[in-house]
Amino acid sequence: MAIPDDVLLEIKYKNDIESIISPYVTLKRAGRNLKGLCPFHNEKTPSFTVYPENGSFYCFGCGAGGDIFTFTRLIENLDYIEAVRLLAERSGVNIPEGDYDNSIFNLKKKIYEINKEAARFYHAYLMSENGKWALDYLLGRGLTIQTIKHFGLGAAPSGWTTLTDYLTKKGYSVFELEQANISSKSSKTGKYFDRFRGRVMFPVIDIRGNVIAFSGRANPAEKDAAKYINSADTPVYKKSRNLFGINFAKNNCAERIILVEGNMDVISLHQAGFDNTVAPLGTAFTEEQAKLLSRYTKEIVVTLDSDTAGQKAVMRALETMKNSGMPIRVLVLPECKDPDEYIKKNGAARFKMLLDGAVSEIEYRLLRAADDIDLNEDNAKIKYLKKAAEILANTDSITSDFYASKLSEKYGVSKSTIVSEISRLRTKNFKTEQKKEIKQVINPKISQKEVNPERRLNVKAAAAEENLISVLMQHPDLYNEIDKLIKPEDMVTTLNREVFAAISELIKNNNMVDISLLGERFTPEQIGYIVSLQNSVNAGINAKKVINDCIAVILKERMLISGTKDENLSIEEWHTKIQNIINSKMGE
Ligand SMILES: [Zn+2]
Repeated sequence: MAIPDDVLLEIKYKNDIESIISPYVTLKRAGRNLKGLCPFHNEKTPSFTVYPENGSFYCFGCGAGGDIFTFTRLIENLDYIEAVRLLAERSGVNIPEGDYDNSIFNLKKKIYEINKEAARFYHAYLMSENGKWALDYLLGRGLTIQTIKHFGLGAAPSGWTTLTDYLTKKGYSVFELEQANISSKSSKTGKYFDRFRGRVMFPVIDIRGNVIAFSGRANPAEKDAAKYINSADTPVYKKSRNLFGINFAKNNCAERIILVEGNMDVISLHQAGFDNTVAPLGTAFTEEQAKLLSRYTKEIVVTLDSDTAGQKAVMRALETMKNSGMPIRVLVLPECKDPDEYIKKNGAARFKMLLDGAVSEIEYRLLRAADDIDLNEDNAKIKYLKKAAEILANTDSITSDFYASKLSEKYGVSKSTIVSEISRLRTKNFKTEQKKEIKQVINPKISQKEVNPERRLNVKAAAAEENLISVLMQHPDLYNEIDKLIKPEDMVTTLNREVFAAISELIKNNNMVDISLLGERFTPEQIGYIVSLQNSVNAGINAKKVINDCIAVILKERMLISGTKDENLSIEEWHTKIQNIINSKMGE
């Protein structure tokens, strides 16, 4: 069952597209439209365009496009109904009761409720007499009561079913509790028990303020327990996509964001005034997290633990962010395990100085390349210079020239030798890259052209179909004329047939074209394609001529394909014949 058109349109009018997109993309006015850096692919010059006039957006770089519903779906990873519901709730529009595909939406809503209840329960337990051990631990780590409340920290009782019992009494089913990863089912007894027991609890909160997961630290008295356990992925939580502290950091990180290793680092840095700090949740830093951060900040400072594992994690994080196009710096902590320890020993002001002096990604890589090399030996120096040249071959020529000078001074090798080694490595890398690119072309990811896979086989027809649909969307008043000449079933490619039919229906029923009424019928990729047609170059006063030409091409291609072409006629004669048919129809 579809959501009624008038409800969709009401939601659309109450949520203008600029206000929906601007929290994620910095938009600048460009004539009648707005432009910004696309949140769906990495780019340095803006190709993401917002058209306030018809409430759509389109990215010329990656082909993402659509309306407020499509944008919300893509950016929040929601399905269609969820996106409609979210925007309806935001603007106070009631969606009439009906048999929409609600099951996942309702389950997610339940899980958010359960998580919120659980967070409250854990916090109350922490503040009770029974939770004293956990509160002592947190205070012992230097946190204030205010910070503990700010982050909603808590404690899980050590009993097996305390929280499960509490929540089932409140009316939640054990199935829902299991889906929320609050309870687990015993494979032996089939009974449900609390997933977190006897732990200090850190709620994970998303950018919209929902509690989406938990991270639990073992009671320090229990030496054998795993130090941290985290919620598994649930319908509302993907650990590769979220960051601890982002709910607070997102408002304070326009200039830079600090990436640290663990929950405790985040909390103590926030307490020390660095409320632009986040941490991944028990995983390595992922590309999805890098993308999330690039929406909010200009620069990332990576501050992972100074032990070997931490430094390996820094290198991995640098690799992950390599393609994000964002400046990255690395903060190396002198003689300290982690930022938390550093601030306790040296204070916030010293940490701020350290932060301002964090080294660039290249400097850090050059620094690390010297690990395990004794730079007092000549052989070792040569080995180091070779490694350094490899690092610099991956940078632009100004950067590499700058560091080549430094290296030359420091190690007594002529600068020209270093520079020529760098350019030799660059040529070598370029050739490898080229090979990779060729492979990628053969095996492309979903690109705009792939939205209509039949296009490749029928380029002429598809191009004419696209033009015709584009003109129809821009001139719905010409619908009756077009309808006389061509029907959806005449379209050669399946996608265009469906799009043409859908647009025709909209015009017949509503006398207008609004892509927001197509969200249930097409995928976000297809909506992007339709938007690209809607906003392509306007045929203006030539619309009728364009229509005629397009229809002639489509009908001809159609006949060629279906074998109805008279073999004795030349292409030109065919063109005339079709044109005659069109002219006679136009005269009707
Ligand atoms: Zn894009």
